[in-house]
Amino acid sequence: MERTPGHFVPSKPVRVVVIGAGFVGSTYAYTLLLHDIADEICIIDVNRDKAVGQAMDLNHSMPLLKRTEIWAGDMDDVRDADVVMIAAGVNQKPGETRMDLLRRNAEIVGNVASEVGRIARNAIILVATNPVDVMTQVSMIRSGLPPSRVMGSGTALDTARLRYLVGRELGLDPRSVHAFVMGEHGDSEFVAWSRASVAGIDLLDWDGFYDAARKRIESEVRGAAYEVIEKKGATYFAPAMALMRITEAVVKDLRTVISVSAYLEGEYGIYDVYLGVPAVVGREGILRVLETPLSREELGKLQDSGRIVRDAVESTGALTEVLEMTARRQKPALVGASAFEASEEIWNTVGDTETGAGTSASTAVGAGADTRYGSKPKRAMRKPRQL
Ligand code: NAD
Repeated sequence: MERTPGHFVPSKPVRVVVIGAGFVGSTYAYTLLLHDIADEICIIDVNRDKAVGQAMDLNHSMPLLKRTEIWAGDMDDVRDADVVMIAAGVNQKPGETRMDLLRRNAEIVGNVASEVGRIARNAIILVATNPVDVMTQVSMIRSGLPPSRVMGSGTALDTARLRYLVGRELGLDPRSVHAFVMGEHGDSEFVAWSRASVAGIDLLDWDGFYDAARKRIESEVRGAAYEVIEKKGATYFAPAMALMRITEAVVKDLRTVISVSAYLEGEYGIYDVYLGVPAVVGREGILRVLETPLSREELGKLQDSGRIVRDAVESTGALTEVLEMTARRQKPALVGASAFEASEEIWNTVGDTETGAGTSASTAVGAGADTRYGSKPKRAMRKPRQL
């Protein structure tokens, strides 16, 4: 008989490494602590004092909680990690464009992921740094880990916001609302209303819950981060909670369906891009991407979202760098190969997981070989499911 999900017994202490000890990273560590998710929490930050301060502050609550080892560490501590959560990043400088910011964060996250991939091939990477879908794809490429082991927080937070707002509107416990936000964690995300329900009753048919209310809620979900940031400077409580739930699903092998940022390989007719979609999350990472049947309009929105993320990934210089690196090594061109295949190729060529000789791969920030949707020669376009 199959083991019951959640009854996974780890053979060693569960270690979560948090990279980036800012608002999100530190609140996440605190949330893990409160929910007793890990035996060991290691905090790493380029600002060493900040990591030490966070570890001290968290440790001071130890007599009041179950014992957890918490320390400010370095990349060596990643070796035994079960989950590495990346929330490292920089904020926009005055006069800096979003694209410059994107490139700077891609470099930071990419370098971190490259180290993680070199040191801890068995870890699951969970990315929070924004734009999260792009950063997750960069992390997958740079780490050389299989796409199933690299995920982003995706639309897990947006989905929580949606369920909260719908629950409030209908006067119901948000946990009784079954609905998903899908696509980019950003402006092109959308609510899959055609799949939203309470106790099997479609929300599209819910008495008194009309189009205007749905539109208002969807726009509140989309604008939530902007509003919170405007009022208090940053979002971190709900993001940390969403990240904690994803981590819990991994370390306890819960096989929970969460709308994480997952790598699409033909699902919904989309190839080689990370997007927020419902996926089964367990000990080995993303066990399966679920293809929720969508209306034609929703499917179009998901594909548009994919194009936006893809363009952003390409703007990090990914494609050029991946291909240039391959050419330098006189390997066959990877045109038509997936981003993962490209990264694997580079990794196999230059990577040495123990000696660190593979660090030259760390210059290969990015993703997305020349593979727009449906243009891959190797795979036939699968007809996406539709209502
Ligand atoms: P923050 O500025 O408070 O923290 C970022 C931390 O990263 C800082 O402590 C900084 O020193 C550290 N850092 C920078 N470069 C580093 C490096 N090379 N190695 C290690 N640490 C490094 O920011 P925050 O509010 O914690 O947000 C972090 C990221 O999370 C941002 O990109 C933010 O947009 C994103 N975020 C994502 C979600 C989501 O749902 N995915 C939600 C909220 C915030």
